[in-house]
Amino acid sequence: MLRHDLLIVGGGLAGLSAALGADPTLKVGVISKVHPLRSHSVAAQGGINAALANRPDCADDTCEKHAFDTIKGSDYLADQDAAELLCQRAIPTIYELDHWGAPFSRFPDGSIAQRPFGGAGFPRTCYAADRTGHILLHTLYEQAVRRNVTFYDEWLVTDIIVRDRRLVGLVAYDLAGGEIIPLRARAVIFATGGYGRIFFRSTNAYINLGGGIGMAYKAGVPLKDMEFVQFHPTTLFGKNILMTEAARGEGGYLVNAKGRRFMEDYTPKAMELAPRDIVARSIQTEIDKGNGFENEYVHLDLRHLGREKILQRLPGIRDICIHFAGLDPVDRPIPIQPAQHYSMGGIDVDATCASPVEGFFAAGECACVSVHGANRLGGNSLLESIVFGRIAGESASLYLRGGPSEAGGDRETAETARALMARIQSVHEREAGENVFQLLNKLKRVMSDTAGIFRDAATLRRGLEELAVLREAYRRVFIYGPCGRYCQEMVVLVEFEHMMEVAEVILLGALKREETRGSHFRTDFPKRDDASWLKHTIITRSDKGPVVTYRDLQVGRYAPEERKY
Ligand SMILES: Cc1cc2nc3c(=O)[nH]c(=O)nc-3n(C[C@H](O)[C@H](O)[C@H](O)COP(=O)(O)OP(=O)(O)OC[C@H]3O[C@@H](n4cnc5c(N)ncnc54)[C@H](O)[C@@H]3O)c2cc1C
Repeated sequence: MLRHDLLIVGGGLAGLSAALGADPTLKVGVISKVHPLRSHSVAAQGGINAALANRPDCADDTCEKHAFDTIKGSDYLADQDAAELLCQRAIPTIYELDHWGAPFSRFPDGSIAQRPFGGAGFPRTCYAADRTGHILLHTLYEQAVRRNVTFYDEWLVTDIIVRDRRLVGLVAYDLAGGEIIPLRARAVIFATGGYGRIFFRSTNAYINLGGGIGMAYKAGVPLKDMEFVQFHPTTLFGKNILMTEAARGEGGYLVNAKGRRFMEDYTPKAMELAPRDIVARSIQTEIDKGNGFENEYVHLDLRHLGREKILQRLPGIRDICIHFAGLDPVDRPIPIQPAQHYSMGGIDVDATCASPVEGFFAAGECACVSVHGANRLGGNSLLESIVFGRIAGESASLYLRGGPSEAGGDRETAETARALMARIQSVHEREAGENVFQLLNKLKRVMSDTAGIFRDAATLRRGLEELAVLREAYRRVFIYGPCGRYCQEMVVLVEFEHMMEVAEVILLGALKREETRGSHFRTDFPKRDDASWLKHTIITRSDKGPVVTYRDLQVGRYAPEERKY
């Protein structure tokens, strides 16, 4: 059996940052179902926030102002101590990345360039043109390779094994070898990213199935605030590739079919740079009112920025438009529509990234600390992944230094691996059955139709009913192709089981929360209700089904008030 002190699942920014935060004397392994450099972090475009105050006209920016914007943006559901910690760590984090050689874009005086982003009082988003995730992921990977970290690339973790509320092992499918492998570790960090591909329209990579979140839930780890799903306002119509918020940060307009910059009717002060929940709803409202093009999209117009600025600041966006829409944004407006983008909720952890299960930690998009509350501000997620990834590595090392006693668990881990093999075998031996890719498409439809930008009790209930039908169908699932090496059918088959858990928790949390807050808009409860709902939703799995409880959040110096932009 393979043994490590610490196993990190995920090779994106959070996982690599965790590896760098871990005590270098520990035996650390990083498992990723794709090569780490193919993790979704690589696709991040617009930038990463820190109150560097580099623009001469913005010298007044501070960590406190960054924290306030984050908390207000969260519709006051963020834990304020955690949000403050995030913003304090932002500045040293950027300088560390800079010193490691991350090629940030620069102002003429040589300082790191910063651009405006939605919901931010100052231009504080640091960037590398519109390829920020790419440069950050490469920078962290380089540092992780320098360390004594073992990488298990193209290994899919399928199960975690918990005994007496303590983590004891993992099971993984080695895609290239085609084998099921049991692993033991004294501590595990999940950095498995978001669940975007549970929705029909999403900006996320196809690998973002959210299996990690569902797997943790299945093993008894609670999930927090899962009803808060971020829909990004501007994704390329039809393809749903992200058109970064930086396009509006650089001055892009949103225009409806009547030729009007309609954000004037919603947030006249902030205009296109209101937070994402508000802009996404405004666009959808325009489309629903019949003010969209072909009743499906509006325009993101960059033409007035001029060719030079577009080429310099938004070259990736221009490339995407040319290759995927056959248009050059220098001369033509971009058709856009909102789509799922980010998961505010996730595995329930505290500000040290520890979960209620001993030895099990989580960080990055799969985790909910919570710093984003009901709505994340653009540029805060790359930051969260790096800052809390590091904290998770440090916390797990501290836990291991405390010398947790040997938990045992070889037998359970080996048995879980054998049970998975037997299950795959029996599914494979079936003569016929349900095709898992078709089930996946149905699940995406259910989630997009019933848990989208606008929700109400009736549609959410329908979502839960349709999900129950899918669960039944999944019992008859069947593998069409050969099993063994690189069996994508097997990958989706294993992940789908976890995805259904994630879907149920989103729908249930959304049904129970009878108010509107941040990204969660209930047309039947259209107002925020602090008296009843200023609390986190915690959903735990039991033999009888999901158990919903609530937890008070940490309110600090910023008293909740109405959000105005
Ligand atoms: C198109 C796009 C643009 C974005 N732009 C920005 C931006 O400009 N600024 C910003 O702040 N945020 C942005 N975001 C959000 C941000 O990029 C992500 O939230 C963040 O990068 C997540 O990092 P992560 O390490 O948590 O997850 P990921 O980078 O998604 O990594 C997840 C890792 O987990 C591994 N994994 C998952 N499941 C398993 C399993 N079962 N077994 C083994 N390995 C597994 C994967 O292989 C991968 O290595 C953007 C997101 C998208 C989709």
